[in-house]
Amino acid sequence: MFKGPVESKNEAAMSELVPEPRQKPVVPMKPTGINTNLLGYIGIDTIIEQMRKKTMKTGFDFNIMVVGQSGLGKSTLVNTLFKSQVSRKSSSWNREEKIPKTVEIKAIGHVIEEGGVKMKLTVIDTPGFGDQINNENCLRPLDLEFMKHLSKVVNIIPVIAKADTMTLEEKTEFKQRVRKELEVNGIEFYPQKEFDEDLEDKTENDKIRQESMPFAVVGSDKEYQVNGKRVLGRKTPWGIIEVENLTHCEFALLRDFVIRTHLQDLKEVTHNIHYETYRAKRLNDNGGLPPMTVETEENHESNL
Ligand code: GDP
Ligand code: MG
Repeated sequence: MFKGPVESKNEAAMSELVPEPRQKPVVPMKPTGINTNLLGYIGIDTIIEQMRKKTMKTGFDFNIMVVGQSGLGKSTLVNTLFKSQVSRKSSSWNREEKIPKTVEIKAIGHVIEEGGVKMKLTVIDTPGFGDQINNENCLRPLDLEFMKHLSKVVNIIPVIAKADTMTLEEKTEFKQRVRKELEVNGIEFYPQKEFDEDLEDKTENDKIRQESMPFAVVGSDKEYQVNGKRVLGRKTPWGIIEVENLTHCEFALLRDFVIRTHLQDLKEVTHNIHYETYRAKRLNDNGGLPPMTVETEENHESNL
């Protein structure tokens, strides 16, 4: 319960104890730019403009994490993403920087601005999982086991790295095999079938699920001159494999999928499905109390 305003005679004596009464919030003025005289006009159509204004001010946050065995090309892929057209304009990137071996979880962030919209893109690079343990006797490949657990918590986008090391037939065959393995093992990947909202979604996402996934990509942090243009690529005795050329690999497809077509949906599924499921589970586990903080849980586990 809130106390009423402090009486003036007590004010001096209590000034150290009682905070000053809060000022009344300023009541916003009626919007003036809208013609409110239109018969039957409610103004629902202004919602889009209101959302746009708010988004322009606050910007977007987007987080991606790359996981997989050591030496797979994860760090290179992260760098490729930042050096590709996503952040060509970013000046903070040192083009000569070498990619060190990843020994800890590392977040690389860039604020990218385009057309007045700000996006804080954070890519989390991880050391190769399984590097520290002896998994020779595992029944099941570690990445399948890993994905099975992760698919309940985050959106998984499977990627085949170093696609330039495969022939076209091998690539097609490998893509099919990965799709089959994911299905047989009940691993759900993004975009999940059950979250397609309508027929249009379904048609678009079916194409991605059946043709694009897993994206076979090539990463590189080196630029070469091709037809008068500087492009990211890998130089081979047979020519330059261009990272962003769709006839060479699917990197541009992956980037466009993640950023240009599905970014908002990825965020919504993470927030509305994954986070809510996690929250409900933690509340249940905790007998209805708010979830413990991560630190508490870690301390708790390390004490066991
Ligand atoms: P990480 O351990 O998964 O982070 O792997 P790195 O990004 O450090 O890459 C390991 C090695 O693979 C490096 O020598 C890279 O140059 C090389 N590499 C990375 N991406 C590709 C690729 O798409 N094709 C080829 N052929 N080699 C790659
Ligand atoms: Mg690495």
